[in-house]
Amino acid sequence: MSPIEDAGEFNLIRRLAAISSSSTRFPVITGIGDDAAVYQPKSGMVQVITTDALIEGYHFDFDFYRMDQIGYKAMAVNLSDIAAMNARPVLATMALGLPGSFSMEDLDALYDGLTSAASRYGVQIVGGDTTRSPVLMLSVTVIGEAGKHDLVHRNGAGPGDHICVTGNLGDAAAGLDLLRSHTKPETLGDKVWDVLTTRHLMPVPRLDLVQEWAKKGVRPSALIDISDGLTNEVHHICAASGCGAVLWESKLPVSPELFAGAPKSRTPVDYALNGGDDYELLFTAPCGVLTQMAPDSYTTIGVVTETDVLIHRTDGILEELKAEGHDHFRAE
Ligand SMILES: [Mg+2]
Repeated sequence: MSPIEDAGEFNLIRRLAAISSSSTRFPVITGIGDDAAVYQPKSGMVQVITTDALIEGYHFDFDFYRMDQIGYKAMAVNLSDIAAMNARPVLATMALGLPGSFSMEDLDALYDGLTSAASRYGVQIVGGDTTRSPVLMLSVTVIGEAGKHDLVHRNGAGPGDHICVTGNLGDAAAGLDLLRSHTKPETLGDKVWDVLTTRHLMPVPRLDLVQEWAKKGVRPSALIDISDGLTNEVHHICAASGCGAVLWESKLPVSPELFAGAPKSRTPVDYALNGGDDYELLFTAPCGVLTQMAPDSYTTIGVVTETDVLIHRTDGILEELKAEGHDHFRAE
């Protein structure tokens, strides 16, 4: 292994620049190599900017993440935030904090993950910064574009709108609990293990929905991505929109893998409501808009109301829906 402290910063930047400069889909006037990157936004479009950081020991550790998966996820979670505005990603920059003992080989693998996620979703990496750090830290910034009237915020939900989610919920949090236990339980099939753990390690940003909605000329009334658990995100939309909600527990989309493989410490429903890292989209839309969306692309899980955020349990009880998803600053 060759430690990066032997290479020096300029060699490091040259190495990263060489890997980054491959894609030129967008009108980048100046890329890596000057003090800042320059690009020309398409006319009539607005820009969307998001940043998300991943810190070793908090967001990931090396017990079960491969280096390329860390890079992939750092890019993917930012792309999910762009999707959550109903926008398309264009460019990315990133800041890397690296321990001096970090190896060149690991850096290449990390970068491989970052660039593979970027190129899969048509994003060009146009710059960044590297610095020494006590632990590995990645902060990715993504710039996206959307037609001014295509943007969807959290505040557009209105009473009577349906509440919908894409994909299945809870798999990623169950996958994380399985990974933390370090060994695959003997009773658990390989496929169940793979589905659940992959949902945590390599989340898929739902840019496919952004594309589909654009093709059909429809847009949700409110939109957010589910990074910290469904309950938290429902509360975010209700608070921003000044409305309430009723969810139906029986309608939550739970995968057969979650039913088969969820660690017994939590129920599949609890994983679906409060597990984090799903990176699916939560949106609201009036019935007339929903009927124009592909019916297999979402599940209706509730309805927007005037006040109060409630859940209709399968046993018939109607109770307050508490925001009990992930809180980055709450002691565990
Ligand atoms: Mg978000």
